[in-house]
Amino acid sequence: MEVREYVEQVQKNLAAKDPNQEEFLQAVEEFLPSVIPFLEEHPEYVEKNILELILEPERMIQFRVPWQDDAGNWQVNRGYRVQFNSALGPYKGGLRFHPSVNLSILKFLGFEQIFKNSLTDLPIGGGKGGSDFDPKKKSDAEIMRFCQSFMTELSKHIGPNLDVPAGDIGVGGREIGYLFGQYKRLCEYDMGVLTGKPVGFNGSLVRTEATGYGTVYFVKHLLEDRGDSFEEKKVLVSGSGNVAIYAIEKAHELGAIAITCSDSDGYIYDEEGIDLDLLKEIKEVRRERLTEYVKERSTAKYYEGSVWDLETAADIALPCATQNEIDGKKAEILVKNGVKVVAEGANMPSTMDAVKLYFENDILYGSGKAANAGGVAVSALEMSQNAQRLAWTKEEVDSKLDDIMKNIYETCRDTAEKYAEKDNFAVGANIAGFEKVAAAMLAQGLV
Ligand code: NDP
Repeated sequence: MEVREYVEQVQKNLAAKDPNQEEFLQAVEEFLPSVIPFLEEHPEYVEKNILELILEPERMIQFRVPWQDDAGNWQVNRGYRVQFNSALGPYKGGLRFHPSVNLSILKFLGFEQIFKNSLTDLPIGGGKGGSDFDPKKKSDAEIMRFCQSFMTELSKHIGPNLDVPAGDIGVGGREIGYLFGQYKRLCEYDMGVLTGKPVGFNGSLVRTEATGYGTVYFVKHLLEDRGDSFEEKKVLVSGSGNVAIYAIEKAHELGAIAITCSDSDGYIYDEEGIDLDLLKEIKEVRRERLTEYVKERSTAKYYEGSVWDLETAADIALPCATQNEIDGKKAEILVKNGVKVVAEGANMPSTMDAVKLYFENDILYGSGKAANAGGVAVSALEMSQNAQRLAWTKEEVDSKLDDIMKNIYETCRDTAEKYAEKDNFAVGANIAGFEKVAAAMLAQGLV
């Protein structure tokens, strides 16, 4: 059978098995055709049916999470952990708390995590988890009780050499703190069981900043390769959470001006550049909505809807909110805005139609697997520091992060040149990530 036919058959089989897992099918559809040139060189993987194997998580855990709200009512949510692939190391990937969370979303995230983690060159497998719990408008005590109940079950399935979760949407330092506190009540104290811990108790410096910084470092190296830089570039950013805030911070540090940020209700357009101190105060300290920002900043305007509908000249777009936030129509606006680089701080924020438009219009595109790998890379550095009972300095971790992102960028660039077309970093990321995982699976006798 031709490799292309094999790949199409695998996709069809998956669609028949999981017809309702839209996001997972989308992530797989983006991935599978891109590894064809590699498989053509390596028929041994086709012979062993590696693709069908890699699409099946090693283990999926679903559990109930009962908790009591402040009014004394009992609530129940669903908890999950998808332990997707451990060929390269313990399962590693974040926990997402958001009402949209379901198995399809976690499988898409876990699947991408395998290749992202492989790209970092660090010894970590891929996993993802979370809950359909909505942390918005919950009191601190409710968040704590929920996290404790969630960890009461999850603790049976994780461990520093087995599965090491971290944060994602709705899970930051506060939640990781509560989760860790419960883990140590139930199991042997081990700081290596979670990453993204607050710096005060064994968290790594720069972990909070790592995903956003890493995305900007990825673009920095891409621009440097072309004799260009962030200096005076206008940057469109979506989201106003962990990834967005630190992408803005690093972009500003490198001389760019981030003119937007957003939440799920609307967005800020601030032509003077986002006031980061104010944004951090509103989002990280006061935990308020973005509408507060315009009350305190006269140069800013607030609009309801998606930031990607904004028509304004810009050079770089950094989607840092959520999956499928940029569809074909919104990508057309980016093209009209003059955007030349899109790098994904979020996971799968661009639909396949959008990505197609990027390529048709010579927009340089860093897919999430590569461009947002800085977060998990520093998580792995946190694991190393915890294992050695050492704490590296901010400069040390930041410079390692920059080196890792440079290496990821160059790997994507070189792999694209070898197997596909020049500057197709998305295909480069997929093949380079896949190559190592597939080799490890074969060597471990799993196929
Ligand atoms: P946060 O919870 O800190 O922030 C998420 C931001 O995205 C918020 O501003 C939120 O707005 C917005 N958002 C969430 N859902 C939607 C939606 N459906 N439509 C519009 N806006 C939305 O999460 P993170 O910053 O940690 O994560 C953002 C993205 O980055 C995700 O795709 C995540 O998977 C990815 N990522 C995160 C990593 C990390 O280390 N944290 C690592 C690698 C990738 P609102 O407050 O209104 O919900």
